[in-house]
Amino acid sequence: MQRNIRELEEKQKNALQRISELRAKIESYLQEKAKIPDGISCWEEITQTQKRLQEQFGIGEREWNDWHWQIKNRVSTPQQLSELISLNEQQEQDVAAVCQSYRFAISLYYLSLMGNTSACPIRIQAIPSYQEISDTVGMIDPMAEESGSPVPAVVQRYPDRIIINVTNRCAMYCRHCQRRRLIGQRDSHSTINDLTAALEYVRQQKQIRDVLLTGGDALMLEDDLLDWLLTELERIPHVEIKRIGTRVPVTLPMRITDNLCQIMSRHLPLYLNTQFNHPLEITPAAAEACLKLARSGVALGNQSVLLAGVNDDVNIIKKLNQMLLTIMVRPYYLFHAKPVQGTQHFRTQVEKGIEIIRGLRGSTSGLAIPTFVVNAPGGLGKIALYPECIVEKNEGEIVLRTWEGKLIKYQS
Ligand SMILES: *Cc1c(COP(=O)(O)O)cnc(C)c1O
Repeated sequence: MQRNIRELEEKQKNALQRISELRAKIESYLQEKAKIPDGISCWEEITQTQKRLQEQFGIGEREWNDWHWQIKNRVSTPQQLSELISLNEQQEQDVAAVCQSYRFAISLYYLSLMGNTSACPIRIQAIPSYQEISDTVGMIDPMAEESGSPVPAVVQRYPDRIIINVTNRCAMYCRHCQRRRLIGQRDSHSTINDLTAALEYVRQQKQIRDVLLTGGDALMLEDDLLDWLLTELERIPHVEIKRIGTRVPVTLPMRITDNLCQIMSRHLPLYLNTQFNHPLEITPAAAEACLKLARSGVALGNQSVLLAGVNDDVNIIKKLNQMLLTIMVRPYYLFHAKPVQGTQHFRTQVEKGIEIIRGLRGSTSGLAIPTFVVNAPGGLGKIALYPECIVEKNEGEIVLRTWEGKLIKYQS
């Protein structure tokens, strides 16, 4: 008895020792985390900007929160932009020059998240930069999506699932957009003919069990059309799940209306993947949009793009993903930026993504760890990359690396 108590005390002492060792491991992250701005801690500043914008446009909260108004009043000319935010002369010239080749449009909501420095991650994602037109290495369609298209609007690259591009419109045209070639200069939804043909394709291909509506931004469609599409998909017996690709929770959270949520709740199982790239994008408005969707039964996922100067840092991604979990969004993918023409300045080394995943494993919830993927050229699909954990392979025994970098022998 006496010895058992002493043993137990010894074990507890060791546990406490280990726990303080563990605490020390995240000390530097906690310090860095506090310095990374986010949309919750900056909300007061953001709402002040929103009030100023509302005054400039002579509108009130009602118009501001009306997504149709936001779309109609997207900022899309260099003159407008320079009236609304501070740009130096060089930036103004760059925006005008890039506009000749690539369109831009920014919802006033997303614009209201911008800080004043050119290093602001919101600015980098939204404001055209000269580097877009000085890029000479990128390709127009590196994933050969066009050759994976059996009927207009459909891309099939896998046996059991397809994407349908329902529109080329977005609330904001990301400067890192990987489907730039589709964005073009004008908004156009896919025609009813193209959508009908896409549905017919799904109907005939009995192995398709997963249909992803994307674009552009699938939630740029009106509620009725979306409702119709989801209903039609449900009438196809082999379609098991539907997915929606949209960035509106980030760029236009007022799009997530009560009516839309009601429609969505009638079309379960439904998965929605969005794209938060930086903690600054997680505002109370974005949080409310995501929680509303979650309450409607929609499963939310996040597909970040690893972007140089925006989020190519383990602490930023860690904070982003931890915050996403608080608003019911599960990190799904972290994408390596593809070699798309006009976006080369956003690309990082592939190793950066692997290093980030290594930095997440163990030090935070498994739920906060996305899969890092690279897209194979030629439309051969996504390739998941993981940090190497098998250090040595021997007969009946392997050597593994733990999340802390300790090497251990493991019977195999
Ligand atoms: C990414 C993608 C999908 C979905 O892939 P998951 O790994 O299942 O999320 C489906 N079709 C195409 C063409 C894609 O590019």
